[in-house]
Amino acid sequence: MSKTIISVKNLCKNYGDFKAVKDISFDVYEGEIFGLLGPNGAGKSTTLEIIETLRKKTSGQVIVDGLDLDTQPDEIKKIIGVQLQTSGFYPNLTLLELIQLFSGLYNKKVDAMELLKKVNLQDKAKNKSKELSGGQKQRFSIATTLINEPKIVFLDEPTTGLDPQARRNLWDLIKEIRDNGATVILTTHYMDEAEQLCGRIAIMDEGKIIQLDSPDKMIDDLVATGFERPKQVKSASLEDVFIHLTGREMRDE
Ligand code: ADP
Ligand code: MG
Repeated sequence: MSKTIISVKNLCKNYGDFKAVKDISFDVYEGEIFGLLGPNGAGKSTTLEIIETLRKKTSGQVIVDGLDLDTQPDEIKKIIGVQLQTSGFYPNLTLLELIQLFSGLYNKKVDAMELLKKVNLQDKAKNKSKELSGGQKQRFSIATTLINEPKIVFLDEPTTGLDPQARRNLWDLIKEIRDNGATVILTTHYMDEAEQLCGRIAIMDEGKIIQLDSPDKMIDDLVATGFERPKQVKSASLEDVFIHLTGREMRDE
């Protein structure tokens, strides 16, 4: 049996009269990469931000590693890493300075160079954050989630807007974070990414979870209904062509 590290029961969130999250329940298991998928406006970010203690819920129960969101939010904050919007970084501070700043806020000593090495940004340590490319910014923002050595890492659309090379590079990084013992919960609009990374996914639509399972099981279930792709599928995709032609290595270094 997998150990539950996040338990969400009957969670509801209203913004005024609008019901953004409608009575959802799900568990996240320790050590898995759990994906929250769904069209824009489905309620993914709202759900994550409630669990991250950053947004108030309307009703329901959330337990994170045995801690009750209602009574122990400060304890929850200590064991989670939350990816900040990269726009929130002071553009004129260097990466080393930013890590020192965050480590002060977390009251946690870190080896900044070691952390930058983890995300392959050691060569950019003395660069200002405004000098980073999109992929480098995303990697740096993931590094900042690791400062407090969190048990659970939350990533909201970590690869949106990245080129295929940078996306693959981030997949490796996210897997590494999981392999080092953390639980990862992420949102994505890329189905190939969810299939590659996530042990289980919940699909949300209009505030509800409409399906929760492993990607494999969901695909098998759909096929079992008699569903077939309308066109003969080729054994390579255009993305395969792109990677084949341009290689897997990152370009923005
Ligand atoms: P997702 O991340 O799945 O795109 P969100 O959780 O950001 O969805 O938003 C869910 C719904 O709640 C959307 O319709 C959005 O417009 C609405 N919403 C989000 N934040 C607020 C807010 N602060 N006030 C009012 N409505 C909001
Ligand atoms: Mg969102």
